[in-house]
Amino acid sequence: MVKRIILKPGEEDRIRRGHPWVYGSEVAGVLQAGPSGPVPAELKPGETADIESSRREYLGRAFVNPSSKILARIYSPSKEGADKGFFKRRIREALERRLFAGLDPRRDSLRLVFAEADFLPGLIIDRFTGWPAGPVEALLSPPGAASVSPRTEGRPGFESLVEAQGPPKSWLVVQFLCAGMEVRRDLILDALGEVFAGPEAPEGILEKSAPVRELEGLPLRDGDVPGSDGDKPGEGDSSGDPIRGILRGSIPPGGIVIFENGIPFALDLPGGQKTGHFLDQRENHALAAAFAPRLVPGGETLRVLDAFSYTGGFGIHICRPGLPAELWCVDSSGPALEGVRRNAALNGLPVRTIRADVFDYLREAERRKEQFDLIILDPPAFAKNRASLPGALRGYREINLRALTLLSPGGLLVTCSCSQALGPEQFRRMITDAAADAGRRIHELAFRSQPPDHPILAGYDESRYLTCGFYRVGGGR
Ligand code: SAH
Repeated sequence: MVKRIILKPGEEDRIRRGHPWVYGSEVAGVLQAGPSGPVPAELKPGETADIESSRREYLGRAFVNPSSKILARIYSPSKEGADKGFFKRRIREALERRLFAGLDPRRDSLRLVFAEADFLPGLIIDRFTGWPAGPVEALLSPPGAASVSPRTEGRPGFESLVEAQGPPKSWLVVQFLCAGMEVRRDLILDALGEVFAGPEAPEGILEKSAPVRELEGLPLRDGDVPGSDGDKPGEGDSSGDPIRGILRGSIPPGGIVIFENGIPFALDLPGGQKTGHFLDQRENHALAAAFAPRLVPGGETLRVLDAFSYTGGFGIHICRPGLPAELWCVDSSGPALEGVRRNAALNGLPVRTIRADVFDYLREAERRKEQFDLIILDPPAFAKNRASLPGALRGYREINLRALTLLSPGGLLVTCSCSQALGPEQFRRMITDAAADAGRRIHELAFRSQPPDHPILAGYDESRYLTCGFYRVGGGR
């Protein structure tokens, strides 16, 4: 029999509005059926339990973990079990949401499952669509030529690759981030195998660890270490090592190439940060690229600074062939900058990569009185929780102040936060303060969040984590 978690009085309000978490401190008791009525019970990591209010109103069924501050994560409003059929239904529903939003899984790489927001707590699945990198790179960036070759229009695109390489293949990257998912990993892999069968079957499924697993008492399996948003020991020189974390099939050792907004990107799925590529910036990459040519109406050279560039998502989108531009990518991670150079070659673009702490780089650039027409700030989450918000805000304010100072008159700042604890209004306040400090007036051209394959679920504010503001500075100082 499924155990019952009874909440303290009043604790059901948030849950009734759709919030899926139950904290240990909100629980009055745990019961299970005994021979002559309910008796107190202990919970085991990963098992399911029913959640009830103090008045015994039914609230839903959850995965539980007594080792976590989040004692229970509700996955269903009804008493359904978490069997293979359940996972297949949920994955199909998640896929339908992406199709409804206009994404095309036959060509678009996308986040297929976004955990709680897709009613699959603690489960992340990214689906990458493309080709093994080797042959694509040979076609698009022949050795020695590409990074210095003149920019040309009409480079081979997605359709030419379908002709040359056949239809794209897919690979899945999975993260199991709570005990309930950890103990059901085989069930989930089987469900995936049945939802994506025949020509849609993935070539391989890779597991990536994440520091949050520790909060659930789960091991950091594939070698990830807590807080590692930059280099990992040994990262980048693992060419001969077997790839860790492969759960099914295979992952091309030389990486894969996907197309985002029609632009090719080479990905190192096992070695890359998070799931290997930041799919959540797809729409913001495209909007930044759309604004860029208007910054230089007279055809002057556009000076672009992509700070916290990772593998160049923003910069490579912006500096398209045909647009005279100079691109500087700054990141503290060597492998990320290797990725920038690889992607620049793939797209026939010159780039300057600078390995530095962005805080130091901006300070230095200010001292040298440098100017840029377009600056992107896309840092990692400075605030990992509410307690670290004040310090994080100081960090955001500093880099934004410096970036606003470095912009040429009429220039554009694309500034992001992926700190869930930093709400949109606090972000607006921060950028307004930074502009005041810099002595510049700014117009907000766009204020955006994440794309629909990272759905925002009403009642679950934690699902909204990305903020991306587009600000244009005035003509004078
Ligand atoms: N803009 C990228 C994603 C950036 S992720 C895209 O669109 O794909 C954040 C990046 O910041 C990571 O590559 C990480 O290595 C880098 N980073 C983290 N802290 C840093 C610091 N203090 N200085 C420079 N780079 C940093």
